[in-house]
Order: sequence, then structure tokens, then C-alpha cells
Amino acid sequence: MSAITDAVTQVKPRKAVLEMPEYHPPLAGREALRLDFNENTLAPSPRVMERLRATTAEGLTKYPEREPMERIVAAHFGLQGEQVLLTNGVDEAIHLMCCAFLEDDDEALICTPTFFMYDVSVQMMTTHLRKVQVDATLEFPFEEFVQAITERTKLMIVASPNNPTGAVVSRAQLLAIAKAAPQAVLMVDEAYFHFHGETTMDDVATVPNLIVARTFSKAYGLANLRIGMLAGSAELLKYVRKVSSPYNVNGVALDCLPVALADEEYLAWYAEQVRVGRERMMEGLREMGVPFFPSHANFVLMNIGPKHKELLVAMRAHGVLLRDRSTDPGCDGFVRITIGVEEHVTRGLAALKVSLHEIGWSANG
Ligand code: PMP
Repeated sequence: MSAITDAVTQVKPRKAVLEMPEYHPPLAGREALRLDFNENTLAPSPRVMERLRATTAEGLTKYPEREPMERIVAAHFGLQGEQVLLTNGVDEAIHLMCCAFLEDDDEALICTPTFFMYDVSVQMMTTHLRKVQVDATLEFPFEEFVQAITERTKLMIVASPNNPTGAVVSRAQLLAIAKAAPQAVLMVDEAYFHFHGETTMDDVATVPNLIVARTFSKAYGLANLRIGMLAGSAELLKYVRKVSSPYNVNGVALDCLPVALADEEYLAWYAEQVRVGRERMMEGLREMGVPFFPSHANFVLMNIGPKHKELLVAMRAHGVLLRDRSTDPGCDGFVRITIGVEEHVTRGLAALKVSLHEIGWSANG
């Protein structure tokens, strides 16, 4: 390998950028059954594929127009266009929320373990990120979370279902959190909504500090197109829109969006595959004696213990990728497996059985 030659610079980035954490998902060599990133394991709706094939050369020359699509998406949810902002995945939505609402002396509040991008985006803006750690059950610590709110709390982010735990927070609890901190925005991340079913989307018109995030990366199978959305008060979203680029979502993604939304049959089919597959996976883990946490999402978190790394290597040798979550707070020895369509669950379970045997794993360590 040749050394990098680079001119010496005297330029320093912002202090927050020097100090913020980095997110490095293990992306290299994913040519296997990908049960590591909670993606749809099969494909998006065939109608979306058809729409993609209809992309024209002229269409690609144009800057994308987000607003007409926001009106269509809003109507789908019974909202006005101003109550929806389309984003480049929920990743960008999180980033924009932090840019819009966090001063450097404001506090943000999350519950850990959770999606790591909250850490990254919050700490780009403020060092005051308060984390409420779950206990051994991994259930959402409602009382502790409410107690951690202060008058400086400006942004609270709660994922329901949560990643990587699969735990959920009830609508009643979320509304109580929003009420307990009227000076703060509550962002409810519903990335895994379709595998659970309960939502606070219907409350955005009446709760002034509630913003709900949804992604098209999971159930819809469009992670590579990068589309997410925020729904909430038009007044709050006006600020978020102000900090976003007008062309943050590409036109190919925008074209596919109404087609994806309209194919409810495909979505219901995929969500059902996951619901059935999740039960099969949990039953299989029970039979093998592997401790796991009951999940409401398209993944299951299991407690493998000291042999977690060996399991990942063995599974890769059998053509299946898992995600090691051991470095998440309170997750030492934990490994996450994505639930997909029936055949992929079958392959995942079979590989798990052989791999656990090969590494000499037993429930007692
Ligand atoms: N929120 C949660 C809870 C997630 O787990 C993920 C993806 N892993 C995202 C958001 C990011 O979704 P997107 O692909 O829309 O950026």
C-alpha cells in the first residue's frame, strides 16, 4: 500500500467535530445472507422496480422536487404538506433535528442502548447528551427517563421499537414524556413501526412538541434509495426544513415513494413474513437454550456470552452475517440477528444451530 501524501494543513475543525464519536458500520464483504443490518432481506415491491425501470435520461437531468411528494405522503397519513419533511433517510432526519434545535449548552436525552447515530448527531452540536441506561430486562426505563428531564432539555429521541433491543414504549408513555417537557422536542423514531403496529403518528396534529420519524429502508426495502420522513407540527418542521438542503432526497427516490406507499399489499405481506419469522426464530432460540430478548422489530437480540465473536466468524463461514452488539452499553456478549422472509429465517436458524455446535457453545458459558 502506498502512503497517503497530503499537504500539511493548519486548519482545525470545530471542537465538537474533533470530539464527537464516529459511526463505522462493518460494511466490507457483505456478499452473504445479510442478517446484520435489519434491512428487508428480499426486495422492495415489484411495482417500485417497475417504476425504477421507467426512469428516463431527461428525468435524471432535473433537480428533484420534494414538495409535491410531501403533499402526497402527508395525504397518506391524513396530514397537510407542511406537516411532513422528506429526508435522506432517518439518519439525515436525526442530523437535521439536532442542527435545528440544539444549542451547545442545551441538553439532549436518549435511553441506551439505542441507535448510535443519535450519539453522533447530538454530539456534533452539544456535549450535554444525557443517557438513561436500561436495566437487565432491556425494557424502556420510563420513570428514570422522565426524571432525567431538566429545564435545559431541548431534544429527546426515543426509538420504538428500539434498536438493538426490540423493546417498545407505549403511546401513553410517549405522550406523557412529551407533556413532561413542553420546552423540548420529542422525536419518536418509528423506523421499525411496521413490525409492531402501535404509533404516535396520529398525535402529531395535537401534541405541539412531538415529531415522528419513519423510514423506507426497512419494511419497504429501499435502504439504498435513502428516504425517510419526519411528521409533526408545521411550525417546528419549518425550522428543520430551513436547515435542510432543498435537494436532499433524489428524484429517483421521490418517484418511487408514492408507488411504494400505494402497494399496501406488498407491505402487509412483508410485515407478516417478519412476524411469523420472528416467532420461529424465538422458538428456535428457546429450543437451543439461547437467551434472547422478546422483540417487536425485524431482529432479535440474543445473549451469546464470551463466545460472541467466534459465533460471528462461524456464521460467516456458513454464509450468514450477524451483528455483534457487544460494545453497546449493557450488551456485553450480545449478538443481533435480522428477521427476513421465510427462507432466510430458515437459513439463519440452520446456520445458527451448526455454528453454535461448532464453537462448542453451551447455555452455561
Ligand atoms: N433509526 C433506527 C432506530 C435505526 O435502526 C436505523 C437504521 N439502522 C435508522 C433510524 C436509519 O434509517 P435510515 O436508513 O432511514 O437512515
